[in-house]
Amino acid sequence: MTRTDVLVVGAGPVGVLNALGLARAGISVRVVEAEPEVAQSPRAMVYHWSVLEGIERLGLLDQAVRAGFTKQDYSYLVLETGERIEMSVSVLEGHVRHPYNLHLGQNRLAEIALEHLKRLGVPVHFGCRVTGLTQDDYGVTVQAETADGPDEFQADWVIGADGARSSVRQLLGLEFEGMTWPERFVATNIRYDFEAHGYGRSTLQIDGRYGAIIAKIDETGLWRCTYCEDLSLPEEEVVDRMPAYFDTVLPGSKEFELVQYSPYRMHQRAAESFRAGRVLLAGDAAHSTNPTGGLGLTSGLFDTFVLYDALAAVVRGRAAETVLDRYAEERKRVFIELASPTASENKRLIYHSTDPVRLEQDLERLRGMGKDEQQQVEKFLFSKKLETPALV
Ligand SMILES: Cc1cc2nc3c(=O)[nH]c(=O)nc-3n(C[C@H](O)[C@H](O)[C@H](O)COP(=O)(O)OP(=O)(O)OC[C@H]3O[C@@H](n4cnc5c(N)ncnc54)[C@H](O)[C@@H]3O)c2cc1C
Repeated sequence: MTRTDVLVVGAGPVGVLNALGLARAGISVRVVEAEPEVAQSPRAMVYHWSVLEGIERLGLLDQAVRAGFTKQDYSYLVLETGERIEMSVSVLEGHVRHPYNLHLGQNRLAEIALEHLKRLGVPVHFGCRVTGLTQDDYGVTVQAETADGPDEFQADWVIGADGARSSVRQLLGLEFEGMTWPERFVATNIRYDFEAHGYGRSTLQIDGRYGAIIAKIDETGLWRCTYCEDLSLPEEEVVDRMPAYFDTVLPGSKEFELVQYSPYRMHQRAAESFRAGRVLLAGDAAHSTNPTGGLGLTSGLFDTFVLYDALAAVVRGRAAETVLDRYAEERKRVFIELASPTASENKRLIYHSTDPVRLEQDLERLRGMGKDEQQQVEKFLFSKKLETPALV
């Protein structure tokens, strides 16, 4: 049996970045991941300016920017009328260190962090699914299934970063409180020349039926289009319904190449507690939100930046364990009070603007913002409010 200071469950972006922060602080850490590789499904790809400093502190920013690209433009498109309202993160120039967003698939960010973990000699066990967990005053014992049979790990602390369906959270018997939306999101990676039709590299397409988030992934002509459909429609026929959707929304030629797609259920949920004894939850394992406005991984990264630091200090005996309670309480508060309601409001505006009176009020507000730099500054500063300042 192997023992480490910290065992991280899940090699998604939150798991590997936590592991990297701990390893850089000299803490012995090990990662276990159920799948044979980092998940390649189309998920987060837009990183708000506010998380870039934390990515930089981990020594990953230059590589991440080289692997993806940064950008400032941002537009709302009203599908029915063709009206565009343009905004730009450039209004933050002179106010913040990185006045731009980064576009990069979350799988790439995780893979870049894994390269660093490898160089630091951190063991990462792929194909190792956690199935059991017990703890006492001295440590945590974790059981896992692998292709070669059962395995067992011991650690002083465990971080459960194993996603919205977290086994760690379930093994702790913690409720995942909240609600599940009656719609399904379909995230598609497609090749189509949106830019030739004047689309901003992040376009929020407002429509009561055909709302979508459309964002450029890379320089090869790959774009993400995430749309919404009723959850009662058969999931196995998503791809059959897709041409009708794109026939309606694509601005020019209806020819597009579907590279990848994935249907998702969406929730607004948070774990009853983000700490149970020697186990901490982070990222989607702790909280899950619909992705409109990109606040899911943003919240997970802000968990990460404060958690690895606090846990390293506890392991080194430089901070009392109560700092971990503060982590748990503060990160839950920020999610419940700020991230989750904002993401729900974003979803309403983009995907459910069916009331013309309400839509006009929303558009008036956005038009005003489009013309007023100060209002844009306030809008873009919002994501920084999801950060918890260092606890140690
Ligand atoms: C369509 C879509 C678009 C999105 N876009 C954005 C965006 O632009 N910006 C943003 O901030 N957020 C976005 N999000 C949200 C973002 O994808 C999630 O918040 C993010 O994946 C959370 O990362 P994580 O590391 O916590 O969990 P995950 O990425 O889910 O990783 C969890 C890992 O744990 C592993 N695991 C699970 N169970 C076990 C087990 N029992 N044992 C071992 N390992 C296990 C899984 O295999 C997985 O690799 C989007 C989500 C979707 C669906």
